Amino acid sequence: MLQLDLTNAIKGLKKAKAKNIFLQIPEGLKTKTEEIVNELEENGLNVITAMDPCYGACDIKQTEAKKMGCDAILHLGHTKFVEKNSIPIIYAPLKYNLGERFERITKIITEYLIDEKINEVGLTTTAQFLNYLPLLKKELEKEGIKSVIGKGKRVEDGQVLGCNYSSAQVSAKTIIYLGDGLFHPLGIHFSTQKNVIIANPLTLEIKTLDEEKDKFIRQRILLIERAKNAKDYAILITTKEGQNRITEALKIKKDLEKNGKKVKIYSMDFISQESLLGINAESYINTACPRISIDDYFNYKKPIINYTEVDYLIGKKNYDEYKLAIIY
Ligand code: SF4
Repeated sequence: MLQLDLTNAIKGLKKAKAKNIFLQIPEGLKTKTEEIVNELEENGLNVITAMDPCYGACDIKQTEAKKMGCDAILHLGHTKFVEKNSIPIIYAPLKYNLGERFERITKIITEYLIDEKINEVGLTTTAQFLNYLPLLKKELEKEGIKSVIGKGKRVEDGQVLGCNYSSAQVSAKTIIYLGDGLFHPLGIHFSTQKNVIIANPLTLEIKTLDEEKDKFIRQRILLIERAKNAKDYAILITTKEGQNRITEALKIKKDLEKNGKKVKIYSMDFISQESLLGINAESYINTACPRISIDDYFNYKKPIINYTEVDYLIGKKNYDEYKLAIIY
């Protein structure tokens, strides 16, 4: 059901008069690399494929593309995120074709909202289901449910990313998340403090976040408290364009030092436990993608927290006001 349509991307590349393409493919699509390259070559393009891991549109390899003599980047699977380009970047997002599942999930959402007497909602989703949001809005409004698709900053309207919930900042008290997984709905809740309803168009399930949000906050507090015991910290910065936060890293270094901690800053492209071997710090502060310290924290031998969580660690904020990073 996930579809990648290269037609518009090829048109965009031709319009940009690009001949030599630097291709970035997300991990989930790597097995289709040869097929994709064949299609591009059949359209007269020369392709160099980047094989380093690529998890988001924040990871645009402009320097590498130019080093390889390429005149454009084709970035698959994500929507535009990085604003300053020194080389044309064409995006080809992956999109779900839900077929009749869309009607079914719309009916499930409508019935749920009517039962719960909710008459105003904000609508959010990820890039893969984005084309369904205006249709969902239309259907809900037919039933008298006011539906708002919030303005996105650096993302499409209604779109959420693990590091960007700008489009969820709407006046409605309830936010519908059309999609799968828990990470984004948790992010919406902890960046807006609103009720989030997950409507999964793949499994046709609808549910609230009640249990998960309590479990999530308990995990975060536990991790931050473990990190608090450390005396030596490693602040991790990535060189990835859309995730680089040197200014924040320097500020956090000062904040921690004022609190009697020892701090060193380490830079790398891909942050992983392996890249940190040999470092004796007792805790890591991640300034790159927030998912590293949320989805993957158990892969690290020392407690790893997000830079936005340092204020809880040094007692500047208390856990009642816990918010996930919103970067835009
Ligand atoms: S920083 Fe992380 S969540 Fe944000 S776009 Fe990049 S990969 Fe996605």
